[in-house]
Amino acid sequence: MTTLILGGGVSGLVTAWQLQKRGEVTELWEAQDTVGGWVHTLPWPDLEGRPGYLERGPQGVLVAPDSAVDRLFKELDLEVRSPGHGARWVGKNGALIPVPAAPVALLLSKLLSFSAKLRMMMEPFIPVRSAEPEEGLSEFVTRRLGRGVAEDLLPAMVAGILAAPAESLSVDALPKLLYWETKGSLFQGMRSGGASSLMVPKGGMGMLPKRLAERLSGVRTGLRAEGLERLESGRWRVWGGGELREVDRVLLALPAYEASVLLGPIAPQSAEALAAIPYTSVRLRHSRHARLAPLDDSFGFLVHPPEGHGFLGALVPSWIDPDSAPSDLMQLRVFLGGAFETDAALSESAGVQKVLKSWVPKLGEPLQVREELADRAIPRPEMGHRGHVKAALAGLPQGMDWISNARFGPGVRDVVEGVEAWVDHQGAN
Ligand SMILES: Cc1cc2nc3c(=O)[nH]c(=O)nc-3n(C[C@H](O)[C@H](O)[C@H](O)COP(=O)(O)OP(=O)(O)OC[C@H]3O[C@@H](n4cnc5c(N)ncnc54)[C@H](O)[C@@H]3O)c2cc1C
Repeated sequence: MTTLILGGGVSGLVTAWQLQKRGEVTELWEAQDTVGGWVHTLPWPDLEGRPGYLERGPQGVLVAPDSAVDRLFKELDLEVRSPGHGARWVGKNGALIPVPAAPVALLLSKLLSFSAKLRMMMEPFIPVRSAEPEEGLSEFVTRRLGRGVAEDLLPAMVAGILAAPAESLSVDALPKLLYWETKGSLFQGMRSGGASSLMVPKGGMGMLPKRLAERLSGVRTGLRAEGLERLESGRWRVWGGGELREVDRVLLALPAYEASVLLGPIAPQSAEALAAIPYTSVRLRHSRHARLAPLDDSFGFLVHPPEGHGFLGALVPSWIDPDSAPSDLMQLRVFLGGAFETDAALSESAGVQKVLKSWVPKLGEPLQVREELADRAIPRPEMGHRGHVKAALAGLPQGMDWISNARFGPGVRDVVEGVEAWVDHQGAN
């Protein structure tokens, strides 16, 4: 069987990898000149030309021993490193409150009241609910962990991952939660998967797609699919950029809105369902400052929304990977906007610096600043998402499938695990 994969982000590349490992012939078309989609590391030297980098998308990926990502990194001989579990804070009522990385250690955090902690400890005894019907994310967390966690911790975490208000989302926005519940409780589920650590390949996250593309055959860049047609034989004709292919199967490893455009003429039900999945844009402001303890030795902080008025938080990439900045500098990455109402002052770099200083008063002026817009970058699974995904998949003609983080979950880990399970399922049928 010949398969043409459209889209060379992590979804498309990992699908090609898993299929080629099983001996299948695949070709992959990526519209941009480089593979990786949002997983893209850009060089960012300092003012003296010393090397460093910034990430357009993920700063790292969560990896548990013998998980799908762990296996992938090993298969690709990628050298990876982990910063360990650094300090982190949630900004609330104008102050940064320490939050431990390990869930159990939350019992020591001042972020939660005594009664909220007691309720959280009851989680292992809360009965498992059927996954149907779809539940809101905040409702799910309230049911399992209590109102305190849902109101005081969840909003900042979700803003940091999905740049959207937790109360607007379906629990399908974080499918790992549903999976953990099937193990009896969230604590049990987390334990069964082994402890995860944040990992980064040496050279940045962009090394992952780069290495995949080097090891795969049939990867084409700068080739955008423009149309598809199902032939009487049941095969597919695909064209774009002056090229034309006839293949047995087409996999759309594309954001829902891109897949929807291609599907419009041939599968209107799927196209409509995919077009109904909203995406969030987020502004990223990268800056370098003189090092400042204890921030320079930490993961960073997230702000409890809506208190930040669109200032969602600041990570410390130079802690996550010391190679990202010269050793005497601290690199920050601020997340702005997303699906939140945003203060006009944050549209100026000086406005962002002022807010940063309100949280970290001793922070020095930035020595370098660079802004990037992640336009329509993050799927926003609101209530009803499950119905959109079901309708989209049900309407697809034979010999076609849609593979994306909007289907499998928001992070690289979700995509790699989702693709591995998808390919296993294909093999079983
Ligand atoms: C700012 C930001 C921060 C993030 N941080 C983290 C993090 O810390 N940890 C984590 O695990 N995850 C993080 N993520 C999420 C992670 O980046 C995504 O889950 C993942 O990259 C999605 O990959 P994808 O292949 O599904 O989609 P994409 O990366 O969107 O790839 C789709 C590809 O399809 C191509 N394409 C589009 N149309 C066509 C066409 N017609 N023909 C051919 N090709 C086409 C596009 O050019 C693109 O390369 C972050 C994302 C963003 C945006």
